[in-house]
Amino acid sequence: MFTITARDEKTQARTGILETPHGTVETPAFVAVGTHARVRTLATPDLVAAKTQLIIANTYHLWRTLGDEGLKTYQGLHAAMQWPYSLMTDSGGFQVFSLGIAREQGVGKVAGGAHTELSRMPEKNLVRITEDGVHFFEDDHECYLDAETSIRIQQQLGADIILAFDEPTSPLHDIAYTRCAMERTHRWEARSLAARSSTQLLYGIVQGGPFEELRRESAHAIAGMPFDGFAVGGAFGNSFGSARIHMKKELSWVSPFLPENKPRHLLGIGLVEDLFDGVAAGMDTFDCVVPTREARHGSIWTRAGRLDIKRGRYVNDTSIVDPECGCPVCTLQRTTKAELYALFHEKNEEAGRRASLHNLFFFNNLMEEIRRAVREKKLDELKARYLSRSAASSFS
Ligand SMILES: [Zn+2]
Repeated sequence: MFTITARDEKTQARTGILETPHGTVETPAFVAVGTHARVRTLATPDLVAAKTQLIIANTYHLWRTLGDEGLKTYQGLHAAMQWPYSLMTDSGGFQVFSLGIAREQGVGKVAGGAHTELSRMPEKNLVRITEDGVHFFEDDHECYLDAETSIRIQQQLGADIILAFDEPTSPLHDIAYTRCAMERTHRWEARSLAARSSTQLLYGIVQGGPFEELRRESAHAIAGMPFDGFAVGGAFGNSFGSARIHMKKELSWVSPFLPENKPRHLLGIGLVEDLFDGVAAGMDTFDCVVPTREARHGSIWTRAGRLDIKRGRYVNDTSIVDPECGCPVCTLQRTTKAELYALFHEKNEEAGRRASLHNLFFFNNLMEEIRRAVREKKLDELKARYLSRSAASSFS
């Protein structure tokens, strides 16, 4: 159940309440990533203190770890994660891309401009895609995932929101291949709907790559199916130009087709400027691994931009990590930059915990500010304030 509570006048931004069997999520919301059914370094009280409302776990990796036998007796993600609030799982579709063409081409799902991830060495493609489903050949072990299997696993995992099985294409795929993959994905999504026998909210996924004609066609097709919500998947951008501008364009093509009264999720995107762009395009939830993953390497988001806390300049800096931050690390523990610098250099586990808690709070709090700004018709002002206080690049 999704209720829109306020709308921005100048953009498509809206605030809403998403009700799930494990509580309500105020949107727009940031979704923490807990790939292996845990958000690394953070325990449940930390996640709550960071204002987390929703966590996404990874179907493919959990299935690989638990196996079909383990899933039969699995107590469910809420119990396993000791997380009594809302959860979502992806479908395993992203691994079709990340273990497949992404390795072969050495690309990420976002290409072009400052976002470019075209830096990896090509590696062996570990997937074989057929009309029915996908064979994975990881570590000399073969497994097979299709729409029905993905939905079955996601039902056994028991998250509140689950996703249809799909094949995200590469930003470097041509239009012919992207069309072929998109049409196959539409068939897999219809099968995902037919396979669902639970009351979990099932979201369809819009694909179509960087091609306007395909994005519109995919949005039209998926919006016509009786999903409970909709997600927009990669690839974003293409091999030239700015990925951020391209993502905005792609969302503007898709968004008019999506039913107003259903929640919308933007998959795998969630840095500061992207969040403002996504919210303005009418998206409601966003998952992004970067804030927590980079926290473990010492990258800290603050109101004044991003800083690399491991650099020598912080060794004697006794100011609070982010003096304007309301998180427990900055307020209760009053952690200074020098202290966090030392924890990282001592390789103390507490370094990753404090950095992750602070970063997750930063993004959840940003979303809270965005919700307030939409209600008060001040979204422009908030965006300008965030982006002017630092070089835009430090928030990219
Ligand atoms: Zn903080």
